[in-house]
Amino acid sequence: MNQTFSRRRDRLLTYRAMREGNITSSRRTKCAACGEESPRLEWERKLQVCPKCGFHAPVGAYYRLSNILDPGSFQELEGNLSPADPLAFPGYSAKLAGLEEETGLKDAAVTALGRVDGHKAVFSVLDSRFLMGSMGTAVGEKIARAAEYAEKKKLPLVIFSASGGARMQEGIFSLMQMAKTAAAIQRFQSRGGLYLSCLTHPTTGGVTASFASLGDIMLAEPGALIGFAGPRVIEQTIKEKLPEGFQRAEYLLDHGFLDRIVPRSEWRSVLAQLLALHEKGGQP
Ligand SMILES: [Zn+2]
Repeated sequence: MNQTFSRRRDRLLTYRAMREGNITSSRRTKCAACGEESPRLEWERKLQVCPKCGFHAPVGAYYRLSNILDPGSFQELEGNLSPADPLAFPGYSAKLAGLEEETGLKDAAVTALGRVDGHKAVFSVLDSRFLMGSMGTAVGEKIARAAEYAEKKKLPLVIFSASGGARMQEGIFSLMQMAKTAAAIQRFQSRGGLYLSCLTHPTTGGVTASFASLGDIMLAEPGALIGFAGPRVIEQTIKEKLPEGFQRAEYLLDHGFLDRIVPRSEWRSVLAQLLALHEKGGQP
């Protein structure tokens, strides 16, 4: 009986991971960055980092949380918050329904309460599979509520960003989320809250221009593209060639925008260390 139950649970976990595209049935996986093929199991062992070139492939929100949080500590918040279609944008509602079916997500953000090595925090993770992790009203609301919840419970806030920016299908309502999330973060910080902003590939547009850049501590995965407009748009506008590595995490670290680059395999230990230091600092 127990064996049947655990087999069922394993199947469910595999199914969820497959839906996120992190585990496939093929035996080899091709890297989107270097084009080299490596055994799927090697990718899995390295948490979806290319064994050949170290490219940190985008991963789903649940997959990321499952690799960071202590087992059994995940508790989803605002799981039923759905996006609106305020402009009745052609095809948007159908697109949202299709993506929900495909990804199992209601929108591009997952918020949860969890622990890292015993340290409790509020987590929000953007998922680039859902309309490029773009921020519409639901994503903005989830980020703002995560900050409010963290403030109320006196917990640190950890946000993993991965986004194409504001969501064009929600027009001005989407742009308003930039001010709303920035204000919510500012309020949280002004009352002593610790916000760790973790940037992953790619983090761009209105998300970079709002909550993602406001961390008390700014962290990023190696090679992540982080910027407002993309490099091609900038080059076409200023009619100049951009420097090598422009908008990559390493370049931003060198120029003071980031505090540290964290390889995917080290998130748990780095976050645990920062959260532990914060807890100690908060003691009288
Ligand atoms: Zn590669």
